[in-house]
Amino acid sequence: MAKRVGVASIIQETNTFSANRTTMQDFEIQGIWLGAEADTNSQGMNIEVAGSLEQLRAHDFEAIPLMRAWAMSGGILLDSELAKMKSLLKDQISAAGKLNGLILNLHGALVNESDDHTDAQITEYARELLGSDVPIVVTHDLHGNPSRRIVAASDGLIGFRTYPHIDQGDTGRRAADLMNELLTNNRTLGTMLKKLNMIIPAETMGTSDQPLLQIRELADSLIDDEILDISLFPVQPWIDVGEVGFGITVVHAGNIKRANECAEVIRKALWDIHKMFEAQLYSVEDAIDHAIKGYQGKMQMIAQSSDAPTGGSTGDDSRVVAALVNYGSDIPSACTVVDAPAVDKAFERTIGDEVSLPLGFTIDPRWGSPSTVHAKLINKGQAPVVLTGPAMTGQIVSIGRWIVVETSNNLILLDMRLQGSI
Ligand SMILES: [Zn+2]
Repeated sequence: MAKRVGVASIIQETNTFSANRTTMQDFEIQGIWLGAEADTNSQGMNIEVAGSLEQLRAHDFEAIPLMRAWAMSGGILLDSELAKMKSLLKDQISAAGKLNGLILNLHGALVNESDDHTDAQITEYARELLGSDVPIVVTHDLHGNPSRRIVAASDGLIGFRTYPHIDQGDTGRRAADLMNELLTNNRTLGTMLKKLNMIIPAETMGTSDQPLLQIRELADSLIDDEILDISLFPVQPWIDVGEVGFGITVVHAGNIKRANECAEVIRKALWDIHKMFEAQLYSVEDAIDHAIKGYQGKMQMIAQSSDAPTGGSTGDDSRVVAALVNYGSDIPSACTVVDAPAVDKAFERTIGDEVSLPLGFTIDPRWGSPSTVHAKLINKGQAPVVLTGPAMTGQIVSIGRWIVVETSNNLILLDMRLQGSI
């Protein structure tokens, strides 16, 4: 009879500096899929749960979808809300019947009020529910912050190999391959974790660019029949917790000495080139100057990484919008701001109406004050967005109600809020 392997996915990245707090509503807005829904709803999507289920079936396991809960990166998760999430996981594991293995797709940088390592806590909880004989394989985002606890509670820990992330499905499939080694080939696996006292800027973490590309290539060159996986976790830098730092995991088949040597080779290589990770950052005005000068008909992009919602920030900093409006250039530009009160104020107006909106710093007023923008309302809606690019392809993301306004110098402003009713 085919061995039964469950797949549960609970994913959010925490930014501990965010003024927001995460609740179950942040997951519910994006849809929590329970049991078979985690299979049917994820079909064709480039996400971990879909990859794991597909590859488990390719290995002739009975793949059991347990749950999938995903939320946009955000603030610290409330303890009371984590208890609800763990209760959902418990219910799904109980309902699944006997499991021979479990794949957990977690972010790796989830933090709740009383625990710096929520992903470890979830894995320890699953271990408690399943007992010590059922193997658990964990997947993480490359920005995860793996801890000694999660390595101890699991049989194998691996992460994305790409940033920008385009291998969510592949990572899920690699986890199923490890499960096959454990359950079909009866191998005993372990994970060696090495942490460095190093945090590098997100701006220089691209895996198809140097300097990280050469480290990824070095890691790939060390993989063989004994060293099954080497993952690099540069860790997202907006997290202030214990054991934070660049992580290296080596999944091995028992040769701890060799695994340690592999991790050491990578650790040394990282320190040798660590200065190459320095990022050149610009003020808002300088960034706009650079973009205007480099324009020449080609689209320029300015990333305000200090306030990126995909990095868990509040996204309510309106300084770039204000600078672009005041710049007076006739080059068309588009910008986003999270501002629920502005959306509320303009949403009931008619398309084409002139609106006057104080914009920005409605969630976190520590970093600035609102700028008033006079603009024309040109679009509004509340439909979710479907991601069509290579990252998380097919994923539906709710941004709540949104409006688009246009100013006189062709600036198009897309205004959205991440939290709220859908
Ligand atoms: Zn990431």
